[in-house]
This record gives sequence, C-alpha cells and structure tokens, in this order.
Amino acid sequence: MPELPEVETVKRGLAPVMEGRVFTSVVLNRKDIRFPFPENFIKRLEGKTLTHLGRRAKFLVAELSSGETLLMHLGMSGRFSIEEGSWPADSGNTNPKHDHVVFTMSGKEAPLIVYNDPRRFGFMELLANGEQGRMAELGPEPLSNSFNGPALFSALTKKKAPIKTALLDQRIVAGLGNIYVCEALFDAHISPLRKSCDLTEAECEALSTEIKTVLEIAIKAGGSTLKDFAAVDGALGYFQHRFKVYGHENDACPNTDCPHEIQRVKQSGRSTFYCPHCQI
Ligand SMILES: [Zn+2]
Repeated sequence: MPELPEVETVKRGLAPVMEGRVFTSVVLNRKDIRFPFPENFIKRLEGKTLTHLGRRAKFLVAELSSGETLLMHLGMSGRFSIEEGSWPADSGNTNPKHDHVVFTMSGKEAPLIVYNDPRRFGFMELLANGEQGRMAELGPEPLSNSFNGPALFSALTKKKAPIKTALLDQRIVAGLGNIYVCEALFDAHISPLRKSCDLTEAECEALSTEIKTVLEIAIKAGGSTLKDFAAVDGALGYFQHRFKVYGHENDACPNTDCPHEIQRVKQSGRSTFYCPHCQI
C-alpha cells in the first residue's frame, strides 16, 4: 500500500511529463474505480493544461488551467506508469485490463500516463476552485514547519488513545501510515502503547523530528529509484526500503546493545511492531 513517501515519489516522477502540458486525450476504461468518475470527467480535462502537480498527505493534487483541481489517490494498489506510443500495445503493464485511466499529454514524445489499479481502492475527483473536498479535515503535513514538537504536544492533550493510534489519525498529522508510524516511534524510543496525553513536550519534540527523518529517508530512497524506474517495471513509486521494526516480528532488536526481540501487537486492528525494551 503506497504511503506518503511513495506518493511523493510518484509526484516527482510524473511532474516532468505532466506539468505545463495539456491533456490531449483522456481515456476511461471504466465508469468508476473506488467511486464513479466525476461527471464530464474527460471534457473537463481535455484541452486543459496541468499547471502544477503537488501532494497533500497521500493525495496527488493537480491544478488545472480551468481553475479546477484534479485529486488523485492511489488507494491500496494504484500505480502510474509513463509510456510512449499508444495504449494498450505499448503499455508496460502485464495486465492492461487493470489500466483504468490513460492520459495523453502534449509534447514531442506525447507521453501516456497510465493509471493501473487491480484492487480499485484508488479514485480521481475534480474540485472547483478553492474547494478542499476530502482534504478539508487533514491535519498538518508532517514535513511542513507547522508540524513540530509544540504542535504535536498540543494536538495530543486530552487524547487518551495510544500514541500509535493517534498518529494514524489524519487530523493530528496528515498522510502517516502504519509503517512509518512504527518506525518513527522506534527511533524516538517511545512505546506505541503509551497514552497520547501522557507524552512530555520533549518526547513530542523527539517524535516529530523522527517522523520527519523516517519520511525524508524513504523519499530519498524513492527518489533514487526514479532514475532507473523504467528498468524495474515501469511503475512509479514502489521501491524496496529496509525497515527497522516494521515486519520484523521475533527478529533481534536493531539496537546492538539490546538483547530483546521485536514484538507484534494489534492496535485498532492494525499490526504494531516495537521493542518493549527500547521503547518505553
Ligand atoms: Zn530493543
């Protein structure tokens, strides 16, 4: 499942072939993915320039010359690839029946931007100028200056939920998923089981710093895959990244002076991986 660093990598991969270019053709191979496509979707995109491609939490946010914003979410299994030629013959995807959307952009090489999504949890929406839609409720962006120790500390006061659960609440911090929450709590030496409102200001400072660090390292790893993504499978944003605790149940704790093993517990239906010795 793509998390924030993967979405950021997709954004960086797509921006050079989409920004400043016109949608010369839009093909929909279904009426819906997770949700129906907006009314007149094709008409509202064709002939419009994509003026800026950004990211908010796990949304790709494409601003259009019409004033509308195209919001794209990858869901569980969505992926974009960049092709040259014509769809489907030149689609690098092994299973073109899951190629749900094909954008052709202007330019000499007329790149095809193919959206493939076997499980169809992703979606695309169009927002009117200034409309926030699903982004309205989102808390601060973890890599922005507005997310920091004091802001996290104040967001957690009165929150009785475990800190692991609170960090997955998109209103407290936007775009964090299970993997990077586990990793950041390990790096900050904070137990995922702690009651949120019991964290000290110093712990919130450490935690906000580690959240930024794990995301930045993963984005850097994703960025390095962009150079040779075509050699892998043509899809943007999926890369191998080593995790310290996530997926490491019963493995030795990565802290060399710690004799304990990584434990897995369930919190709010999601697996949490942590070291009960190093994280208190
Ligand atoms: Zn340990």
